[in-house]
Amino acid sequence: MATIPGIHHITAISGPAQANVDFYAGVLGLRFVKKTINFDDPGTYHLYYGDYPGRPGTLLTFFPWANAVQGRPGPGTVTTTAFSVPAGSLDYWQARLAEHGVDTQPVTERFGQPVLSFADPDGMSLTLVAHTIDEADDQPPRALPAEVALRSFHSATLCVPTVDRTARLLTETFGYEEIGEEQGRLRYAAPGEARASILDLYCDPALTSSRMGAGSVHHIAFRARDDEEQQAWRTALVDLGFHVTSVKDRQYFRSIYFREPGGVLFEIATDGPGFARDEALGALGTHLKLPPWLESRRDDIEQRLPDLTIPTTAS
Ligand code: ZN
Repeated sequence: MATIPGIHHITAISGPAQANVDFYAGVLGLRFVKKTINFDDPGTYHLYYGDYPGRPGTLLTFFPWANAVQGRPGPGTVTTTAFSVPAGSLDYWQARLAEHGVDTQPVTERFGQPVLSFADPDGMSLTLVAHTIDEADDQPPRALPAEVALRSFHSATLCVPTVDRTARLLTETFGYEEIGEEQGRLRYAAPGEARASILDLYCDPALTSSRMGAGSVHHIAFRARDDEEQQAWRTALVDLGFHVTSVKDRQYFRSIYFREPGGVLFEIATDGPGFARDEALGALGTHLKLPPWLESRRDDIEQRLPDLTIPTTAS
């Protein structure tokens, strides 16, 4: 049986789309790799951010709901999303975030690495983890200098009421290993590749109940290298008693979904075909892309979506 190489993408709900793109592309300097819609709710954008080509392990995506209620993290949700940044870059980030009016927590250390925590415009918890990055930086150009630019996800923190059952799924089925415990935080790592390979299980005692809304993570997706591997995961998970959806065509990857024992919505998404399937690599994110089955409704869909100005350089 294959193992999961790491996180594929994380999808969250935001408030108004423009504030979201101003923050993630403009302030954090992620590349805006795709402007499309929620295929299950075509009146809503689906915005994708990542590295230059939008590789799995770098992809943070949003469903912006202009009138979303405020979400609340808690049991059964992904409570924090963490990005890797180069060692020594947290001073830069503290200053940059302050300049843009974003409050940050004091830098602390976690598992020997300095971390900087803050929230996005909708209150979603984000962390930058500074460390030596092994993977060569072969993904220029970036909006920000390579010495400070966000790389891939470092990790995600899941709050689950039943740690043992979630941990068993991660270790016995996905192939993760427990690599440490610090102040009640259990850390797991996928074997092999370094990118986006870490998951933490930890519940802040202050988080007693969750509510889906702006600033909430909707689901976390894990990587399958190809369709065969995804099919094998589907079979294995069904055999374990999970209710797994059929394969959904998300244009840029194919997806299956199920709820893990702690209540977090998990997805397993294929690495391919990727974001260059309907736009040139240099032009990713510049046009509203619709799946073929919704093209005939383009005029109606475009009319209902708010205008969006994508920052071309991080300012
Ligand atoms: Zn997804």
